[in-house]
Amino acid sequence: MTYYSLNNNSHTATFKEAVIAGIAPDKGLYFPEQITPLPESFFKNITTLSKEEIAFNAIHQFVADEIPNQRLREILANVLDFDFPIVPIENNVATLELFHGPTMAFKDVGARFMANCLGYFSEGNNEEVTVLVATSGDTGGAVANGFLGVKGVRVVILYPSGKVSAIQEKQLTTLGQNITAIEVNGVFDDCQRMVKTAFLDKEITNVRKLTSANSINVARWLPQLLYYLFAYKQAKEQGNEIVFSVPSGNFGNICAGMVAQKLGMPVKHFVAATNVNDVVPQYMASKGKYSPKPSTATISNAMDVGDPSNFIRIQQLYGNAFETLSKSLSSYSFTDQETKAAMKKIYEETGYVADPHGAVGYLGLKKFQETNPNTYGIFLETAHPVKFLPVVKETLDIEPEIPPQIMKVMNGKKEAIAITTYEELKSYLLKS
Ligand SMILES: *Cc1c(COP(=O)(O)O)cnc(C)c1O
Repeated sequence: MTYYSLNNNSHTATFKEAVIAGIAPDKGLYFPEQITPLPESFFKNITTLSKEEIAFNAIHQFVADEIPNQRLREILANVLDFDFPIVPIENNVATLELFHGPTMAFKDVGARFMANCLGYFSEGNNEEVTVLVATSGDTGGAVANGFLGVKGVRVVILYPSGKVSAIQEKQLTTLGQNITAIEVNGVFDDCQRMVKTAFLDKEITNVRKLTSANSINVARWLPQLLYYLFAYKQAKEQGNEIVFSVPSGNFGNICAGMVAQKLGMPVKHFVAATNVNDVVPQYMASKGKYSPKPSTATISNAMDVGDPSNFIRIQQLYGNAFETLSKSLSSYSFTDQETKAAMKKIYEETGYVADPHGAVGYLGLKKFQETNPNTYGIFLETAHPVKFLPVVKETLDIEPEIPPQIMKVMNGKKEAIAITTYEELKSYLLKS
């Protein structure tokens, strides 16, 4: 499969090249040259297919013959070895739980798929690849877990000191082996800036092969489309047209859902639900004016993004035509106060404990259903509520039980290299 850069479509790459480079040489995001719809019979018979068969059929065209079919099947089976259940909440409202993986946020699937692909491409190759990534929370744990023990790949994760939750910090600092955590005396934007500077620093890139594991990487972005197919399989029999509401930050997850629609999956509409970081809701309201701004801290912190990197891919999917896009996408933003009120309402009326991100998704769905009542709405629960323990405890006045995969890391010993300046990162990357 050929991918082209969204900055200049004459920059092309194979799947392998796109995965290893992360981003095109002109800093554009890679985008598949074609998206070929799956046969109608695939959707007609989807309830008879296993998740591994669904995954292979949907992902194969994006990898083509660059990974042998048998190996791709093994990778997918390994990546998808947990459940993706739909849980009914109210009449015509359900949640798709994406937190049953090892780090309990939806980023596990993308991170594991990318790690497996990079591991395959590194086989028989002497040159080590360094994955350099900045995290504001969930990415770090998912990447650390996904890449742990992958031969030929070294992972360096930068995180802002004191700005990630206790659980998130343990998930990215306790694994050891080929994973190194760098604790930056600063905020997420400082970590992000250091990573970007390193990618442009010839003294480093002349001697180290660097790649990123953010959702700009096609191997992290594309497998997320599988969530929507797994949901469709479970929800198709209920009769009404399906609407997905996706709590969105960098817009990689929702964009992957829209790729599933391009593959032919019947779906009425997508709702991008955000916190007060409302660049996309403003874009939709202003009929196509895109104005990025600095991010604001919220209780749904994995969505505190002021310039969503994948939005350009969404525009591309709809031919950069606002009118066409607006037929498939609505976008609404919600405050922390509204989010907490929604968490309370869901808990009191149904007993379901939603995390702040899922609650934003719920609010977006309810808003859309005010004017589209005869739809079956699915909001994505992108993280387990214990990952945001202080907010959940305080808002719902409950003591949620800590699941075993979290207990395991809580007992691990934190190991991180503390740095303040870019020079310190550089000397670390050069010496080790
Ligand atoms: C990363 C993340 C999001 C945002 O996903 P995007 O693909 O960046 O839009 C939402 N919720 C949780 C819990 C996350 O970790």
